[in-house]
Amino acid sequence: MTTAPVVPAPAGEPRADTSPVLELTTLTRHFAASKGTVRAVDGVTLTVGRGEVVGLVGESGSGKSTVGRCAVRLDEPTSGTVRINGTDITHLSRRALRPLRKDFHLVFQDPSSSLDPRMTVGQIIAEPLRLHGIARGRAARERVAALLRQVGLRPEYIDRNPHELSGGQRQRVSLARALSVDPDLLIADEPTSALDVSVQASVLNLLADLQRDRGFGCLFITHDLAAVEFLADRIAVMYLGQIVEVAPTAELFAAPKHPYTQALLSAAPVPDPVEQRSRRRIVLSGELPSPLAPPPGCRFHTRCPVAVDRCRTEVPGLRALPATAKARQVSCHLVTADGAAPNAAAPNAAA
Ligand code: ADP
Ligand code: MG
Repeated sequence: MTTAPVVPAPAGEPRADTSPVLELTTLTRHFAASKGTVRAVDGVTLTVGRGEVVGLVGESGSGKSTVGRCAVRLDEPTSGTVRINGTDITHLSRRALRPLRKDFHLVFQDPSSSLDPRMTVGQIIAEPLRLHGIARGRAARERVAALLRQVGLRPEYIDRNPHELSGGQRQRVSLARALSVDPDLLIADEPTSALDVSVQASVLNLLADLQRDRGFGCLFITHDLAAVEFLADRIAVMYLGQIVEVAPTAELFAAPKHPYTQALLSAAPVPDPVEQRSRRRIVLSGELPSPLAPPPGCRFHTRCPVAVDRCRTEVPGLRALPATAKARQVSCHLVTADGAAPNAAAPNAAA
């Protein structure tokens, strides 16, 4: 094993502790494909405050992972800016980015592919400590032991290899590694969806406990609405590369404004069987359109039960609804400034 010299922690720029941990501004990521341009992410503006958990939801292919990857510079945005702790990292060189990397961390969906199979659990968790010159040798081992405890793994796991662990245990190791350097921001991309259903809840509970104890900001990417309701303070809903609605979690579930959000929530099972029976499931017609050729006007209009002519031609920007009790944002022509929204479950009653 090579030992990196212990470098002192960089002094860093002075920063106002009030700046959001993550600020994405009109983030765009287009991919060149043989058939044209894949508009995977198209103008996403979103912030995660200090200690805040923001859920990013939307169906598969809506661009969630690409947002997460761009936010940590695992992918290069086509345009727009990414700020972490107030620092614009969009165009920083790898070298300039390196010392800042301890402030943010991405946890992947599939822990088996993200953990180096040749390393022991102890080495995996200690690596960020070593790379950032935070601890090595005995001090590192002590921190690793404490981290193992915090993620609910017995001390003897320190010398095991990832392949000796279950999926849930591997994801616990990923979390321990991510949190070893005490990041201000954790981006978790579907952290439980590759796991057995039986262990998903325990990993989710662990993430919630760790977040509460350590107070890091979190962008929690998922298509699991129950998980996001449990974990998130605020939720952003994505459709075809764009955010269509942002609201505090309770408000979003109580009164979704965007017809797409209404449809998405109507498909989620609710624990109460009486409520479940009375629930009107909104079945959207058609498939998610291709990001190679997003529909003009409102991107959702081809599947929207309440779309009108204007929706087919005019792009609805994401706008704040200042009259709503808690600041909410929505991109729908049919939602009024005071927050009155169409009802996608009863299209004939709309307007
Ligand atoms: P989600 O995480 O919401 O399922 P993704 O961000 O993975 O969505 O993908 C959004 C869209 O971008 C999809 O249509 C996907 O096929 C496309 N995409 C993602 N990565 C690439 C890539 N490297 N090259 C081309 N298209 C991509
Ligand atoms: Mg994804």
